[in-house]
Amino acid sequence: MPSDTPAPSWSPSGLESLAQKVGTPFLMYRADIIRAKIAAITAMTDSPGLQARFAMKACSGHQVLYAMRQNGIWIDAVSGNEVLRALRAGFPSGQNPPTILYTSDVFRDNALEVIRAENILPNLGTPSMIGALARAGYRGAVGLRLNPGFGHGHVKECDTGGPSSKHGLWYEDIEAIKHELETAGLKVSLLHAHIGTGPEIAEFQTNMRRLVDFFVERLPLFPQVEAINFGGGIPHPYKPGAARIDLDACGAVFRHAQQAFQEAAGRAIRVEIEPGRFFVADGASLITRVHGLKSTRTNEKGPGQKFVMVDAGFCDLVRPAMYGSYHHIEVIGKTGQPEEDLVVAGPMCESGDVFTRDADEVLDPRPLPTPEAGDLIAIHDAGAYGETMSSNYNSLGRVPQVWCDDNGAYLVSRRQTLDDIIRTECFEEL
Ligand SMILES: *Cc1c(COP(=O)(O)O)cnc(C)c1O
Repeated sequence: MPSDTPAPSWSPSGLESLAQKVGTPFLMYRADIIRAKIAAITAMTDSPGLQARFAMKACSGHQVLYAMRQNGIWIDAVSGNEVLRALRAGFPSGQNPPTILYTSDVFRDNALEVIRAENILPNLGTPSMIGALARAGYRGAVGLRLNPGFGHGHVKECDTGGPSSKHGLWYEDIEAIKHELETAGLKVSLLHAHIGTGPEIAEFQTNMRRLVDFFVERLPLFPQVEAINFGGGIPHPYKPGAARIDLDACGAVFRHAQQAFQEAAGRAIRVEIEPGRFFVADGASLITRVHGLKSTRTNEKGPGQKFVMVDAGFCDLVRPAMYGSYHHIEVIGKTGQPEEDLVVAGPMCESGDVFTRDADEVLDPRPLPTPEAGDLIAIHDAGAYGETMSSNYNSLGRVPQVWCDDNGAYLVSRRQTLDDIIRTECFEEL
């Protein structure tokens, strides 16, 4: 396991018995790991006026939301339905305090309606959202998600700040936006930027320090601001041996920010962060069964490969196919046995349905103990952007989710059936 959280409490036979009960593939959540990550964040934010939110798009299942709420974490939601899921998990509506924040660059579907009905604080990322709110009769406060002109995501596809990023309000337009807001009768209670982290771990803290100065300069423009939000992007070490973020040092940056904001504004300003992946990345593994092995042989087009064919695909975990992301792979019950370079591939009709890829998205055979048909494989760190980015591509149906805590294992979401998949199909004249 790449995480420094507790060793697995499940044995190969325990996993096999779960697999017998729910079938493969399935997602297995570990409550102890998620609780340990929540504890790490609450320790970092354990001073008055520091508040953590959970960016629930990373993992929006009820059990996870419930664990967040139990521990005083607030929510960052991206859609009307995410807001409704947070409400169902018991988070209070309203803006006093704004326990649920809606952050998006677009109002889609029920978003405006939910914001109005539940008095949710909207965090605006596109200027036209101001007019949309005003036309909908909204007269509450708003947050402004700013593009500060710099920033970086954890992979090249994740562009969270700078001229090429689609996110947020461009920082040089802030005066014009302020004017528009005044015309619409909307006050600004929160300033926000989510610029994340680069591939280098040090970039996170550098970015956060730059953001402190950025916000200090702009605070005087908005005398009603109560909170400043630094977004998410706390990195998770996906690769074994990868550097780990120093949360104590991050906490120090946020406390320094609080002081600097207090001095600039002459009043206390709440400082918020909203990690997604950090809370949940190693909290779930995708458990899949090996169906067979096959090989290609070297010819003029390239080197031969040995493929391990498993029943999980990128419909269940898209990060390797989408970003070339590394996920640690464990052949269950074979740890320590001789290894050879293997490509782990899934059942989907797409050549990119491969879990062993590199950042350039080419095959990256991985040294692994050679499995046999019938063995189980765990694809680790699937808790963040695993289920939430899953799809019904190839009509395979979303996998069951199993929640393991001290008391045992619980099915918290069953496998989707064909009826689930086609339930919305119809033939209605328009
Ligand atoms: C995606 C996102 C987050 C969470 O990012 P992580 O990398 O998962 O921590 C937080 N805030 C906003 C606005 C986001 O878009």
